[in-house]
Amino acid sequence: MSDMIRPQPGIMEIDLYQGGQSHVAGVANIVKLSSNENPYGASDKAREAYLRSVHSLHRYPSTDHASLRGAIAEVHGLDASRIICGVGSDEIITFLCQAYAGPGDEVLHTEHGFLMYRISALAAGATPVSVPERERTTDVDALLAACTERTKLVFLANPNNPTGTMIGQGEIARLAAGLPPQALLVLDGAYAEYVGGFDGGATLVDQRTNVFMTRTFSKIYGLGGLRIGWGYGSRDVIDVLNRVRGPFNLATAALEAAEAAVRDRDFVNKCRSENARLRAWLAETLAEFGVPSDTSTANFILARFADAAEAQACDEFLKQQGLIVRQVGAYGLPHCLRITVGDESSTRRVAHAIGQFKGAR
Ligand SMILES: *Cc1c(COP(=O)(O)O)cnc(C)c1O
Repeated sequence: MSDMIRPQPGIMEIDLYQGGQSHVAGVANIVKLSSNENPYGASDKAREAYLRSVHSLHRYPSTDHASLRGAIAEVHGLDASRIICGVGSDEIITFLCQAYAGPGDEVLHTEHGFLMYRISALAAGATPVSVPERERTTDVDALLAACTERTKLVFLANPNNPTGTMIGQGEIARLAAGLPPQALLVLDGAYAEYVGGFDGGATLVDQRTNVFMTRTFSKIYGLGGLRIGWGYGSRDVIDVLNRVRGPFNLATAALEAAEAAVRDRDFVNKCRSENARLRAWLAETLAEFGVPSDTSTANFILARFADAAEAQACDEFLKQQGLIVRQVGAYGLPHCLRITVGDESSTRRVAHAIGQFKGAR
């Protein structure tokens, strides 16, 4: 009987992840501001490297990713032997849960934290635990208070998605120092490049064996379609994760495009400064229309509306104009819309449309 064929406990509690929408039926000239993608695409150097990889399609890719790890280490001043590359940082998150958490173990994440932490914890049979934030900002005391002898992983995106807020290095260090001995702190630095002068937590990883950092090529590098991320941790944790990693997890095209991308610092710096300029303009303009947002350090803002009904009505209004933003009810923020900072024209378009929506009410 097929009802005897059952998945592992926890699997059926997983709600399918909904990616950012990219089409609206019957509407042309869509502007997609729903997935925090880079509005300028990938750097030309990354595109050229990707095209060159066509000549080696018949070859298996590198298994140790030495060349990409070397480039990342050189650019960020890290130890290449303590870097691991994965199919997006999603895969690194999966490895961490698979390797360190199972039935009976708890995986902490912040109240409005990235949904993949919960999904990966459940997929590993572990118990995800949501920890309250304070005003949409990580609360270190609440995280410390939520720890038990069963806590194995503590996931924290800094800056966080979808809130855009971040906490300082002193607070992160206090969290790392206060965790129980069996718990690993995972700092998700998907948006670290958008914060000038911020190392994503790498220095703390070098100082403490209970801290791990994840990074991605999907955001500022504009390579979300290729699926490449990486992690940086202690020698022991990297050794563990490499045992669960498939030997050919990354395709040659992804490895080579990522290496060219990480070396193109001019492109990254230009994207960071354009994002900061347009993000400030967007936040100020929406605030003037009566739509506030917390100070964001990432490539999106979390616009707050009076209530869930107003947020939904605004989302519908924007969609009819071909502007797709992100509803964040699944993150416990039904009265908000997350809006990716686009290029100049799309940022102006979305601000103008929200002004029209507010004026029309
Ligand atoms: C977008 C994002 C990622 C990136 O995931 P990839 O699998 O690398 O594309 C990771 N963490 C957070 C918080 C994100 O918002």
